[in-house]
Amino acid sequence: MPAISCIVPVYNEEKNLEILYAELKEVLKTLTGGHEIIFVNDGSTDTSQEVLKSISAKDRDVKVIRFGRNYGQTAALAAGFSKAEGEVLVTMDGDLQNDPRDIPNLLKKMKEGYDLVSGWRKKRKDPLFTKNIPSHIANGLISFITGVRLHDYGCTLKAYKREAVKNINLYGEMHRFLPALASWNGITIAEIPVNHRARIHGKTKYGLSRTSKVILDLVTVKFLLSFSTKPIQLFGLWGFISLIFSFISGISVIAMKLFKGEDMTGNPFLYLTILLLVVGIQFIMMGLLGEMMSRIYHESRKNPTYIIKEQI
Ligand code: UDP
Ligand code: MG
Repeated sequence: MPAISCIVPVYNEEKNLEILYAELKEVLKTLTGGHEIIFVNDGSTDTSQEVLKSISAKDRDVKVIRFGRNYGQTAALAAGFSKAEGEVLVTMDGDLQNDPRDIPNLLKKMKEGYDLVSGWRKKRKDPLFTKNIPSHIANGLISFITGVRLHDYGCTLKAYKREAVKNINLYGEMHRFLPALASWNGITIAEIPVNHRARIHGKTKYGLSRTSKVILDLVTVKFLLSFSTKPIQLFGLWGFISLIFSFISGISVIAMKLFKGEDMTGNPFLYLTILLLVVGIQFIMMGLLGEMMSRIYHESRKNPTYIIKEQI
């Protein structure tokens, strides 16, 4: 079993792979305990697969997983996690923007007692308006909402202890939230500045269009972290609030009739009462459905609703 598994998602990076492999190997050779490099070819349509094949023919530590189509970076990372055999899993981009020479620093920080060490592209070499500014806002928002404070969620260069990503299933484009999701396992997280380089070969696969996806994913992550085992507490709360306002509104309609002689059927508050009543009941029902689904979710996966760190 190697000490380190390096996982690299690859989507149309033909010109970068040889250089990346050489740089990466140079660094990994100096580390003790053995290593493996897992390239996950996410349905590339260029010659990436041929390049990866020739690399793996030369080096037994290189494994290549090829998807039949482009499933996205999240799926590529998930496939890498599930194939990896190392104790420490290091993820990095396949476009040479991350610098393999940072890996020893990540591992050193990990030795200080962290389960996840994340890279922080302090001097990021990407376009300002389409990448740096939106990502700055996104990082602030994600940190604030999830409570896991990081400067750079988007940096793929990260090192995970195997336990840190245990039980975490990745969907959609959730790789961006891995530290927040992993925090559910009760792990310790650190962040260190890493080198970042401009992209020379190939094109970026992401643009501004990811903004709305990030916000929606953030809602999901927040819900999973806070309420996945108690959905009724979220939906029920709003249901109660709605019912209370419905009650107040209903009383007002009756009071207006009794004391002011206002027609009940012509009173807009009557309709508000009905609306809030229905909405309130719906919310509570959704909470109950959520409770059922939460049980199915946890029990079908034989997933505990907690993670034990240590037993003495
Ligand atoms: N990638 C992938 N599947 C995709 C999109 C990207 O495997 O659908 C890989 C890509 O090859 C690269 C990494 O994910 O190794 C990061 O992509 P990119 O450099 O385009 O993102 P950026 O650095 O511009 O945020
Ligand atoms: Mg890149």
